[in-house]
Amino acid sequence: MKNDGARTLTVTGLTKEYDAPTGPNRVLAGASLTAQPGETVAILGPSGSGKSTLLNIIGSLDRPTSGSVRLGDTDVTSLDGPALAAYRASDVGFVFQDHHLLPQLSALENVLLPTLAAGTGEGAEERARELLSRVGVAERADAFPARLSGGERQRVAAARALINEPALLLCDEPTGNLDREAGDRLIELLTGLAEDGVTVLVVTHNTRQAAMLGRGLLLTEGTLAPWEGGAEPA
Ligand code: ADP
Repeated sequence: MKNDGARTLTVTGLTKEYDAPTGPNRVLAGASLTAQPGETVAILGPSGSGKSTLLNIIGSLDRPTSGSVRLGDTDVTSLDGPALAAYRASDVGFVFQDHHLLPQLSALENVLLPTLAAGTGEGAEERARELLSRVGVAERADAFPARLSGGERQRVAAARALINEPALLLCDEPTGNLDREAGDRLIELLTGLAEDGVTVLVVTHNTRQAAMLGRGLLLTEGTLAPWEGGAEPA
């Protein structure tokens, strides 16, 4: 399945309902999108509109109520068992608002961690060092997270997300804890990484940073529509 050429992400008619005391809470109501390898796509929308839910379903951390997610020829929503574990471990990389680096491991060791789960250890250290260099923190390989700046931590988190060469890089408010300068630099980095062929989806509130990405989609009332730029959604 891996490295089988262009793997288009096709999300079709996703719905998601959560049970709430007052009845079902319908968060997604037929959200669809298509993204090609190498594309960078911002996902905007009001707080609580379902952006994280959408990203989590694409990354198979959550299941939709109905609808499908396809990566190339694979129907992700129908995977289970070892195939689902393999998808999570090696087809998808996540970057969250909080870096989630393990404090007791160095930057290099954090980047190597996903290779243990995916069983892709051979040549891993060399790849990890290359990635740390690619994200601009090669000289920080032996530093522990507490010694890194916020921007450096997110760069290490991006390197960790890419170590298993995923088709999708899913970023949920990756610049939310960064100052403007570090945030802009991270977005620039993500756009550069996409040139290697990964599809990058970035949930963000920041319309300036969204405008730095290839295109934007606006999630409102459970569906996605092209974002035409303009003011930050409430
Ligand atoms: P956003 O990322 O756009 O802020 P979320 O996807 O986090 O939105 O949440 C969308 C809605 O779904 C919110 O109303 C939230 O309370 C609800 N929600 C999210 N996750 C759960 C869950 N695990 N159980 C119940 N409701 C949830």
